[in-house]
Amino acid sequence: MLPKLTCYGGVGEIGGNKFLLEDKGTKVMIDFGAGFADGAEFFDSGIEPRLVNGAGDLFEFGLLPEIQGLYSEKALQNTRLKHSSPEIDGVVLSHYHWDHTGRIGHIDPEIPVFCGETTSLIHEAYSDSSGSPLDDHPVRKFRTGDKFSIGSIEFEPVHVDHSIPGAYGFLAHTSEGVLAYTGDFRFHGPAGSMTDDFVAAASNAVPSVLLTEGTRVSGRDSGANMTENEVLSEASKIVQRARSLVFSTFRGNDVDRINTFYEACHRAGRRLVVSMKMAILLEKLKQDKRLRVPRVGKDVGVYVRRKRTGKLDDKDYFPWERPFLNHGVSALEVRKRQRELFLHLESWNFPELIDIRPDRGGTYIHSATEAFNEEGEREETVIRNWIDHVDFRYEQLHASGHAPGAQVGDLVKRIGAKKVVPIHTEHPRLFLGFGGGKDWKLELPVRGEPISLGR
Ligand SMILES: [Zn+2]
Ligand SMILES: [Zn+2]
Repeated sequence: MLPKLTCYGGVGEIGGNKFLLEDKGTKVMIDFGAGFADGAEFFDSGIEPRLVNGAGDLFEFGLLPEIQGLYSEKALQNTRLKHSSPEIDGVVLSHYHWDHTGRIGHIDPEIPVFCGETTSLIHEAYSDSSGSPLDDHPVRKFRTGDKFSIGSIEFEPVHVDHSIPGAYGFLAHTSEGVLAYTGDFRFHGPAGSMTDDFVAAASNAVPSVLLTEGTRVSGRDSGANMTENEVLSEASKIVQRARSLVFSTFRGNDVDRINTFYEACHRAGRRLVVSMKMAILLEKLKQDKRLRVPRVGKDVGVYVRRKRTGKLDDKDYFPWERPFLNHGVSALEVRKRQRELFLHLESWNFPELIDIRPDRGGTYIHSATEAFNEEGEREETVIRNWIDHVDFRYEQLHASGHAPGAQVGDLVKRIGAKKVVPIHTEHPRLFLGFGGGKDWKLELPVRGEPISLGR
């Protein structure tokens, strides 16, 4: 039987990547994430799948594939699928974003997860604080240059640049050709050349199938593509001219953005103050000699919000939080030193502003994607209300984690695979605009229908 690839997620949607690769009796799941809009027709507005029903509430709406030998006993406890010993040999993970990891928690804990060393450090940070979908699984680590085999398939991970460190694409060498999978990528981050390394390695391998993301293949590319470097120069100007507190909302595991704001603060003589969750991540990542991250305490302070008694007592905090109290900055201290600080504050944490009571005229930097759907617009309205309430200036500043459409087209041409399968995109058909024809064939994925890796 020819090797085959079946897409169970990431089909006509951004995120939710789940791909089963089978060859000569070996079965490997590549990523197992939750889609951003996964089941939003049923699970929205406070309606959530019940944890007690394991994977059952997700099966009901086809949000998870019913695959024998994949799930844990707990995930199947109330479903028609019976638990059996694992038939899947491993999960290969591209990077630690929820839309790639989010459903791993339902997988049988005997099935190992293969991920990059940096990803395993990120996993440990989450595991120690709020829990991680990889908890309970054996974790097998790799780095660029390492090859590893799962059964009859040899995997060659190659780093790519993305908005989280430790992101990889893969070349999977099967008995009948190579599958190239991009994971999520961009070229405009500080490590953009890593994506070029992936493209070169993939092109060299002459893949039969290229599985590529196309988040920003949308037909409405404005051409604007802010780089992380441009974010840094804009941020530096904003921080320099700020007269009162500066605070910002950005993804807590985007290490490039942490470095960007750290550097902007350094230039302006301010101190960056991060959340405890970001602090534990930075502490873990400093073990990674190839990453550059600010040091907790020395380079950045840690914001301490009131909990339980509200008196900032040691006992009010979890054991993992307590070491950070030494570098702690309370709301009162933020108020006292508002001209010297730059605070990372997620929007769910905005009520802290009530304690901080910053002077009017400070600056807020919204450093995330601009709203692109109704839910995002609602969130933006609420954020703007808070910013108006404290009478701050609102700035939007962000570099995407994904390559713009034209650069995805360029990647497709440079790699030169025989078949191109667009995933992690709402507009797979737009890949037709990248050419194809005699050089390569566009294969639109259909959820649950296998694609052959042979010719
Ligand atoms: Zn993704
Ligand atoms: Zn991602």
